[in-house]
Amino acid sequence: MKTNKISIIGAGFVGSTSAFAIMDAGLAGEIVLVDVNAEKAIAEAMDLSQGAAFVKSVTIKAGTIEDTADSDLIIITAGIGPKPGETRLEILNKNIPIFKDIVPQLAAKSPDSLFLVVSNPVDILTYVTYKYSGFPAHRVFGSGTVLDTSRFKSILSQRFSVDARNIHAYIIGEHGDSELATWETTKIAGMSIPEFCDQLSDRCELGFQDHILDQVRHAAYEIINRKGYTNYAVALSVRRIVEAIFGNEHAILTLSSLFTGEEGIKDVYLSMPCIIGSEGIRQILPIPLGTSELSALQHSASVLKKLIEEAPLD
Ligand code: NAD
Repeated sequence: MKTNKISIIGAGFVGSTSAFAIMDAGLAGEIVLVDVNAEKAIAEAMDLSQGAAFVKSVTIKAGTIEDTADSDLIIITAGIGPKPGETRLEILNKNIPIFKDIVPQLAAKSPDSLFLVVSNPVDILTYVTYKYSGFPAHRVFGSGTVLDTSRFKSILSQRFSVDARNIHAYIIGEHGDSELATWETTKIAGMSIPEFCDQLSDRCELGFQDHILDQVRHAAYEIINRKGYTNYAVALSVRRIVEAIFGNEHAILTLSSLFTGEEGIKDVYLSMPCIIGSEGIRQILPIPLGTSELSALQHSASVLKKLIEEAPLD
């Protein structure tokens, strides 16, 4: 019987909060937490397990890479997060060696698993995971801009006083400074933003779109500058991705996935709306993009591609 075994590599803020969110949603039969700081993983597993009386039955334990064998899904949150003022891209060189070490071992223990990468810079580290796992691309993806898309919807929701779940909007491209909003296809109740603004007369001043995108791009820095890390919204993003996978939902989420010529972009991971189910990524969706959106997406890809070329991958 399928147990929905999830291994979470890295039991830090993101890993442990994701485990909590997954456990609370009753999505896994078994969760294994692995961390180089073994005591931290043990403590988090104990703390989570002690909530057993309040959630669906789940086994949560700390372990080593050996214990991840036969996982259905491996979530990588291990690594070094950005310090205040440090960009995601600046921490790349610190995290690549960790991935070179763990990914081949994890892949060997769970040859049929899916990989979900959350560690930053997520697009590059997902590419690294793809390369070092030897897995087909559809089984290796990153959380990408799933979180940024939620941030975008939550800001639009506050702006227009409508439920975030009734807004169709995406942040695409790099999970980071070059990401962009797909204003051309953003819809509230089937209306474009200019149409929706017309209904609200005084709410859409000139330049408000740039201001909103700026807020999305700086959201993580705003939080990290104050508390040193982000954990809740990213954990809910992870939970949503897990739900889509184990429910074989064929949901549409902005995951970081391998481009193989889509939009003129090749051999780089970045986010576009993708169909995701139990088999992994089924398809990257070619949503309509305005001319400036397409060139911004291609610019985002070139930023990432340059980093891949410069990264110490061998
Ligand atoms: P953290 O420092 O709290 O946790 C990282 C954990 O990884 C630590 O416990 C550390 O001991 C562990 N680790 C390091 N090397 C390891 C190895 N070889 N094997 C196993 N564990 C190892 O950091 P955090 O706040 O949890 O952030 C984790 C990562 O997630 C960072 O890269 C951060 O930038 C990223 N992040 C991504 C998103 C997103 O949307 N993609 C959002 C928030 C954070």
